[in-house]
Amino acid sequence: MSTPFPPPLLEVKAVSKTFGRFQALKAVSFQAAPGQVIAIMGPNGSGKSTLLKSLVGLVLPEQGQILFQNQDIRGKSGYRHHLGYMPQIARYPENLTVSELLALVQDLRGLNDNLDRELHLSLGLEEMEEKKLGSLSGGMRQRVNAALAFLFKPELIILDEPTASLDPLSAELLKEKIHAEKAAGKLLLISSHIVTEVEELADRLIFMLEGQICFDDRLDVLREATGQTRLGAALAEWVKKHALKQ
Ligand code: ADP
Ligand code: MG
Repeated sequence: MSTPFPPPLLEVKAVSKTFGRFQALKAVSFQAAPGQVIAIMGPNGSGKSTLLKSLVGLVLPEQGQILFQNQDIRGKSGYRHHLGYMPQIARYPENLTVSELLALVQDLRGLNDNLDRELHLSLGLEEMEEKKLGSLSGGMRQRVNAALAFLFKPELIILDEPTASLDPLSAELLKEKIHAEKAAGKLLLISSHIVTEVEELADRLIFMLEGQICFDDRLDVLREATGQTRLGAALAEWVKKHALKQ
C-alpha cells in the first residue's frame, strides 16, 4: 500500500519470529495510520496472535523492527501507555476479584484520573466487581478484558478475537465502542474469524497465511479483484489464486 496519510502511528518492518524450528512470522511488514480499523484474518495458526503479541511486546521477534510513533519499541515499555490490548486468552490470578484486578492494573499504570469507563459501565462490570476472576465464565472474563483494553484511552487498540466468546449484546456494545474510537481518531487492530463483523467494522483487511501477509488492502479492493461480493467467497477465491504461488 502507498504511504498512509496522516503519517503512520505503527510501522512493522520485516518482522520474523520462530518458536524452536517453527517459523510463526515470516518477514511481516505493514504500516498503519490513525483513524482506521484494520481486521486481521487468517486460518488458525497463521500467526495472528503472534503478530499482535509482538506489537504489545509479549513476543520478541528475532528479526525486523516495530516502530510506534517513529520509535523502535525493542527494549522499551513506555509506549505501552498508549496501547490497549485485549488478549485472546488472558490469565489473571484466579483469587482476585474484578475490582481488585482493576485496582491492580490502575496501580501498575500509575496515577490516572482520566479513565474511560464507558465500556466498563455498559458491559455491566459493576455488577460483577466482587466476583473472583476464577469464578467467571469465559464471556464474563472477555467483558473484563474488553473494558481494560479501553480504560486508559489508548491511541492504539489491539483486540485479539474480541467477540469470540461474548454474548450478542456485549458484542454489539463492543462494536459500537470500536466505531466510536475509530471516529475519535484511534487506530484499532482486530483479529477475527467472523466475516460479518469484519465487513461491519473494518476499513482494511490484512489476511495472513502461514506467517505471511497474503492480502493487505481495503475490503472493496478484494471484492473487485475477485469479482465476489461476499467477503467469505472473495477470500476463498483470493487464497486459491495467490496462496500457492509463494
Ligand atoms: P493464530 O492466532 O493465527 O491462530 P498464533 O499466532 O497463535 O496463530 O500461532 C501461530 C503458530 O505459532 C502456531 O503454529 C502456534 O502453535 C505457534 N506458536 C504460537 N505461540 C507459540 C509458543 N509460545 N511456543 C511455540 N509455538 C507457538
Ligand atoms: Mg490467535
